[in-house]
Amino acid sequence: MSQISNLKSQISQKEDTIVALATPNGIGAIGVIRLSGPDAIAIANSVFKGKDLEKQASHTIHFGNIVGEGIVLDEVLASVFIAPRSYTRENVVEVSCHGSAYIMESIIKLFIKQGARSAKPGEFTLRAFVNGQLDLSQAEAVADLIASNSKASQQVAMQQLRGGYSNQLQQLRDQLVTFASLIELELDFSEEDVEFANRIQLKQLVVDISNMISKLIQSFELGNAIKQGVNTVIAGRPNAGKSTLLNALLNEDRAIVSHIAGTTRDTIEEILNINGINFRLVDTAGLREATDTIEAIGVQKTLEKISQSALLLYVFDAETMTGEDVAQDLKNLIHPGIPIIAIANKIDLLADSKLAASFNLPEDVKLITVSAREKQHIDELKQTIYNSSVQGQLTGNETLVTNIRHLEALQKTEQALIRVLNGIEHPVTSDFLAMDIKQSLYYLGEITGAVTTDDLLDNIFSKFCIGK
Ligand code: GDP
Repeated sequence: MSQISNLKSQISQKEDTIVALATPNGIGAIGVIRLSGPDAIAIANSVFKGKDLEKQASHTIHFGNIVGEGIVLDEVLASVFIAPRSYTRENVVEVSCHGSAYIMESIIKLFIKQGARSAKPGEFTLRAFVNGQLDLSQAEAVADLIASNSKASQQVAMQQLRGGYSNQLQQLRDQLVTFASLIELELDFSEEDVEFANRIQLKQLVVDISNMISKLIQSFELGNAIKQGVNTVIAGRPNAGKSTLLNALLNEDRAIVSHIAGTTRDTIEEILNINGINFRLVDTAGLREATDTIEAIGVQKTLEKISQSALLLYVFDAETMTGEDVAQDLKNLIHPGIPIIAIANKIDLLADSKLAASFNLPEDVKLITVSAREKQHIDELKQTIYNSSVQGQLTGNETLVTNIRHLEALQKTEQALIRVLNGIEHPVTSDFLAMDIKQSLYYLGEITGAVTTDDLLDNIFSKFCIGK
C-alpha cells in the first residue's frame, strides 16, 4: 500500500505533463498526440492558434492551427478534457493532426519545448491507475484489449476492463479485511480469551472466497486459450492428407501439397478462427520412421510439438490404413490431458459400407470422417474442434482469467485460504490465524492492485506501448 502512495506522491510532486503519439508511428490519415498533466491545456494552448483552450469547457473539440516559430505546422482539432473527467483523471488534450511523420514529430517536439516530457510506455494508463480511474486488472485489460485479435479475446478483455472479477474479489477482500481486524483485536485482549471474530461466519466467508477462486483458477485454461489461441497440432503419417486438410480448413493453398511422402519437412503455423476463437494450427512432418536426417528432425519436432499442444488432430488415410495401424499411431500420440480428434480422411475413395465403423478407437478419441480434397464434413470437423476446447457458446459475460500473473496470485491465495480453514477447524491461536488471513489478503490485493510494488507496476506497464 505504501508503495502506491509513494508512486502517487512521486507523480503529484513532479506534476509533470507527459506527451506521446497515441496512434501508430508512420503515415496515416490522421495522427493523435496526447498530453496529460496539470499543464496539458496550457501547453497545448501556447502553440494553438484558435480559441483560447484554457477557457473552454471539458469534452469540447476545437479547430485551429499549430504554430511553431512563426510557421503554421498544421491545421488540427484539439479535444479538451478537464481533470478529473479524463482517462488519466488529469487535464488531457488530444490533438488530431494530419498523419505525416514529420508533422507529428514536430508537434511533439513543440510540446516538449513548452514544458511537456515524453511519456514512458503505459504511463497514461499508469496515471489512470494511480489516480484511481482503473484498478490494476482493469489497467492490464487495456493492454489485452489493444492486443485482442479475435471476437472472443476482445470480449474477455472488455469484460475485465468493465471490472470483471476484480470487483467481486475486492468485495470479498473487504469482508476479509473486517475479519482480519477483529482477529487483530483479539490479539490485544489475548489474556482474556475472547473471540470477536465469529468463527462460523469467518469460515463461511473463507469457503465462499475459496469457491470463487477455484472457479477462477479453472477458467484459466479457456481464458488463456482465448487470449493466446489454442495450440493445435496436426499429425499423421506422410500422405495422410494433412496439408490438404490444413488448406481445406483455412480455405487457402498455403501448405505444400504433394504426392511424394514426407514433403512437409518443417512445421507450418496458421491461425484458424472458429466462432471467434483462434486455433493455432501446426502442420508437422510425417510420423513415419525417418529415412533421412532432415525427416528425423521433423519427426522429433512432431512429438515435441504434440507435447506442448492443447489439442491434437490425428489425420489418417481411411482407404489404406487398417484399424491396427491407427491403434498403433494413437498409442504413440496419446499424451495425458491433450484431447485427440482422429480424422479419417479420403472418404471420397471409400464405399459407404467401409466407412469408419471398422476403426476401433479408444473411448476418449473422437472420430470424424472427412474428405479434405473434396471438402466434405469440414464444417462438422470445425465444430468438433471448437467444442473440444469450448463447452457451449461463449456469451461474452463469462468470468475468465486470462492473465498468468492473476493465476499465480489466485493459486497463492488458495493455498493461504486452505491454511486459514485448517486454522479454524483445528483451532490455532489468533496470531497464526491472523497471519494466514493477512497472506490471503496480500495475494488477493495483488490482483486488484490494492497491494503492489514498483517492480510489479514497472513490469506491467513497461509492456504497454508508448502513448497508452
Ligand atoms: P500430407 O503428407 O499428410 O501433408 O498429405 P498431403 O496433403 O500432401 O496429401 C497427400 C496426397 O493425398 C495428395 O495427393 C492429396 O491430393 C491426396 N489427398 C489428400 N486428401 C485427400 C482426400 O480427401 N481424398 C483424396 N482422394 N485424396 C486426398
